[in-house]
Amino acid sequence: VSELRKDVLTGDWVIIAGDRHGRPNDFSHHSEPCSDIESCPFEPGNESQTPPEIDAIRPEGADRSDWSVRVVPNKYSALSPEENESSEPESNFPQRKGIGSHEVIVESRDHRTTLGGIPTDQMNRVLKMYRRRFQTLLADDRFKYVQFFRNEGPEAGASMRHPHSQILALPLVPSSVRDRLRISADYFLENDHCIVCDQIERERAADERVLEVTEQFLVVCPYASRFPYEICFLPRIHDHDFRNLNQNQRNELAQLLPCWANRLAESANSPPFNLIIHTTPVQNSNPPDEPPVGDYFHWFIRIIPRMKRIAGLELATQTHINTVPPEQAVDELTE
Ligand SMILES: [Zn+2]
Ligand SMILES: [Zn+2]
Repeated sequence: VSELRKDVLTGDWVIIAGDRHGRPNDFSHHSEPCSDIESCPFEPGNESQTPPEIDAIRPEGADRSDWSVRVVPNKYSALSPEENESSEPESNFPQRKGIGSHEVIVESRDHRTTLGGIPTDQMNRVLKMYRRRFQTLLADDRFKYVQFFRNEGPEAGASMRHPHSQILALPLVPSSVRDRLRISADYFLENDHCIVCDQIERERAADERVLEVTEQFLVVCPYASRFPYEICFLPRIHDHDFRNLNQNQRNELAQLLPCWANRLAESANSPPFNLIIHTTPVQNSNPPDEPPVGDYFHWFIRIIPRMKRIAGLELATQTHINTVPPEQAVDELTE
């Protein structure tokens, strides 16, 4: 079992997971991403090679291998669910057991496809499953925060070629999420508005970084993009919680995500990227003297291309150097 350790200097928690050492890596020699399909545990027919299935979408009465989306525990889980958590005594070296859940969502039957290659109807099913996993995991009161991420390409952290995403339930709210909540809450208390709703208005008014406006979403390269070609998908109707994703939003996202992943691939030579869903932590972590998190927090999705290496400056100061201004990124992505 892994262990969570708190850095007392920063308040950040670290997952110490010795077990993950030795997990497979299709890309260990920076070769072409063409892992062996026969031995791929995410292939239809290879279901017995994964830990027992958690969830799946398949036609009623269909065979086990006749799935369109499949969810399994991460074989090399960073955290694992346990019966209960014993409270650790106060210590100079704060730690807690690595209780959590680490799931893999297999998004396609096609080993070689990418986010940009997933057809709209399949992406719709995949988004349905994302939402279902958030609902299930956030209903478990051992978990305080759920992070969804999708790594595409070895430099973005993908160790398997087969298209998949990951969802990690944590027994705590990470300090970066707390910071984001604090900034949003302070803004709300001062302005009586949601900071993201206001930013949506500002970006639309400025009209320099907007990629697309649909009925449900604003797609932008954010003003202070930390990474070249960063893309944000902001729901235009205020909502703090990805679990409230409705059918209209899902239908639009099912087109928007593959579409902009393709544009990114065309404009920037298929960079590796991470796709992240930022959503609310469990609501009962809200202190009574603060406004309800639903008033001030606003969920969104971000694509972060990984074309530059995180170097010393970024590591030391969280201050990023981005050599592609978002205004230029918009020009190139919409060419
Ligand atoms: Zn595969
Ligand atoms: Zn809002």
